Amino acid sequence: MFRLVNIDGRAALEREGDYHDLATVADDPALADPMMAIARFDDLHGFQGGCEDRVPTGSIADVELGPPAPVPRQVFGIGLNYRDHAGESGMALPPAPLTFTKFPTSIGPPDADIPLSGGAVDWEVEIVAVIGHEARHVSVDDAWHFVAGVTLGQDISDRTVQMTGNPPQFSLGKSFENFSPIGPAIVSADAFVDRDDIELWCDVNGDRKQHARSSRLIFSIPKLVAYLSSVCRLLPGDVIFTGTPSGVGMATGTFLSEGDLVESGAAGIGSLRNRCVAGRGPLAV
Ligand code: ZN
Repeated sequence: MFRLVNIDGRAALEREGDYHDLATVADDPALADPMMAIARFDDLHGFQGGCEDRVPTGSIADVELGPPAPVPRQVFGIGLNYRDHAGESGMALPPAPLTFTKFPTSIGPPDADIPLSGGAVDWEVEIVAVIGHEARHVSVDDAWHFVAGVTLGQDISDRTVQMTGNPPQFSLGKSFENFSPIGPAIVSADAFVDRDDIELWCDVNGDRKQHARSSRLIFSIPKLVAYLSSVCRLLPGDVIFTGTPSGVGMATGTFLSEGDLVESGAAGIGSLRNRCVAGRGPLAV
């Protein structure tokens, strides 16, 4: 197994609260690049094992983590992928994965501040799959072999922008700066008792808003990878936000305000901590 993190733009392996600079452990300067590390995820298991006998580079508590996949070429989002969330949204279950994009510049670190673009900015905690090998027309049975690991994400959504127009186009409303915080680590699938059954939750100002397990996904991670790869070539470092469970603010008309704290967690992955700050909405044209 491995836990891949980003420290000051350099790939590192996390072990028992410490981190080990990957390029140093591997004696390969190319592996300083987090995106390169993801593409060579098969080798990371061995390097993680090698950390046992080494003095760590530093302690995780002393550093600010960056996004573990900092510059994905493609960021996929999946809508209505939990039955109870489709229900609270008043929408029918989609016949195939309802796919949109979060533009890659929206990716932020696990503790990113969220600049509020308006009065209807919402939380969506999600398990995020990170592609490790180029994938094209892969089968559901083979799909996990193309996944470097999983991380946690917030698909922050400005509902006003997301729902503007008919038909509405989701992408911009989910792509303001820092609207896609991910982390804290990319965790290899073999680190989980069941990689298709990961517990996740989201608290806002200490109140539990969302709590679910990824086994409740309508389209599982293997199905999403197989389906998306039947249309797009999936590239190492691409990320897939797999969908959010019920409990989003939209369901009750409660949205994020300046100063609010969004804390998200997933068993075996870790947590995100995102403070809401003043931001700017889209240009009126
Ligand atoms: Zn979402």
